[in-house]
Amino acid sequence: MHWDVIVIGGGASGLMAAGRAAELGGRVLLLEKMGHVGIKLAITGQGRCNLTNGGDLPTFIENFRHNGKFLYNAFSRFCNQELISFFQTRGVPVVEERGRRIFPASNRAQDIVRALREYASSNGVKTVIHSPAREILQRQGVVKGVQTAKDCFKTANVILATGGASYSQTGSSGDGYAMAAKLGHTIQPILPALVPIEIDDPSIRDLQGLTLKNVRASFVSGEGKIGEEFGEMLFTHFGVSGPIILTLSGDVVEALPAGKIALLLDLKPALSPEQVEKRLIREFREQPRKQIPTILFNLLPKSLIPFILQKAGVPPEMKGGEIRAEERKEIQKVLKGWRLPVKGARPLEEAIVTAGGVSVKEIYPATLESKIVKGLYFGGEIIDVDGKTGGFNLQAAFSTGWVAAEGAIKKS
Ligand SMILES: Cc1cc2nc3c(=O)[nH]c(=O)nc-3n(C[C@H](O)[C@H](O)[C@H](O)COP(=O)(O)OP(=O)(O)OC[C@H]3O[C@@H](n4cnc5c(N)ncnc54)[C@H](O)[C@@H]3O)c2cc1C
Repeated sequence: MHWDVIVIGGGASGLMAAGRAAELGGRVLLLEKMGHVGIKLAITGQGRCNLTNGGDLPTFIENFRHNGKFLYNAFSRFCNQELISFFQTRGVPVVEERGRRIFPASNRAQDIVRALREYASSNGVKTVIHSPAREILQRQGVVKGVQTAKDCFKTANVILATGGASYSQTGSSGDGYAMAAKLGHTIQPILPALVPIEIDDPSIRDLQGLTLKNVRASFVSGEGKIGEEFGEMLFTHFGVSGPIILTLSGDVVEALPAGKIALLLDLKPALSPEQVEKRLIREFREQPRKQIPTILFNLLPKSLIPFILQKAGVPPEMKGGEIRAEERKEIQKVLKGWRLPVKGARPLEEAIVTAGGVSVKEIYPATLESKIVKGLYFGGEIIDVDGKTGGFNLQAAFSTGWVAAEGAIKKS
């Protein structure tokens, strides 16, 4: 049998691509290497799936670290409003939360997977599971078919949507990069992005589970500031994670080979150093007989206090009335710039998103067709784009899947 389109990878992008290509009338085969489709999609947003963002098109472009402009075309054709109505008409209403993040109202990523699976199957997509693609066959720069471990399928159009190279137990283990490279595509270096950061201080383990809201995190290296974000972060058994850390992590990973990096935490970003100082003076004056940790509890989570005092060199037994101006100044300095040495990033396997991938210079942005091999299209994280947290990565996967399907069908 000759297929109009073969989609490799049943993730966010591949499911959307397969469904759309079949909806447009194509005979579509979806090859998925795992035992079922949408495994990564089902764990997104901690099982809630932050499927997109409520921002406008420029916001989407800005929220990509690399090649956001390349996505302009795909986003102009199929973006958040189209995606929201896509799911709403398939019985999955959505809600918008802080940071304009959009989730299914049911809070269940599985509902998104189910809607996409039904979209594909109701339009006649033939899905073959346990079927890892090994090679895309071509002759004289034109797609001819797909070779799996067991079979050879004929087609003139392949949409390669194998995802990135993290959380490999979900099926995304980077297979597509090798297939694309074999066809002559340039693969930009694969690096973890949206990845937790390790801190070079084993005592940080004591803070595991502590969430800090409304703090400012900056990463600095010898040459200056790498990046800065305001919002929420989390301590883990090895270091730090949470939205603002993940957002900064891609740039940290890129800067790591150049030298030592430190994380600077401003625990009181709404106050100037002078205002923090005044606040400390007042607290210590009003409570001269209380121990410093008890007083600081008005300003900080309890588990953080020993760290701050140790860094400031202030003994915890000291009382409010005993503190000297220079000691108070040291506390103020730590509150406004607690310096934590960075050890490194967690491995690619633990990254929410893979940076790098198929070079956008070799893909037509309007159709997502390869400039090297006719009939080869790309969808999703395999492309060299990586977005910040907030629903941007999934929207990119859905948009590119949709547009690649239209490109493939219109040509066939
Ligand atoms: C824990 C976690 C949470 C996340 N949360 C969010 C979130 O809330 N919002 C957001 O925007 N983004 C989130 N992301 C990122 C988002 O999941 C990805 O960017 C997105 O899934 C990429 O879609 P994709 O279709 O390109 O790849 P994937 O969804 O990874 O799908 C790729 C598919 O291809 C299959 N495959 C691979 N190789 C082969 C092969 N050789 N043959 C056949 N099939 C193959 C895989 O099995 C898989 O099914 C999260 C990621 C992780 C890991």
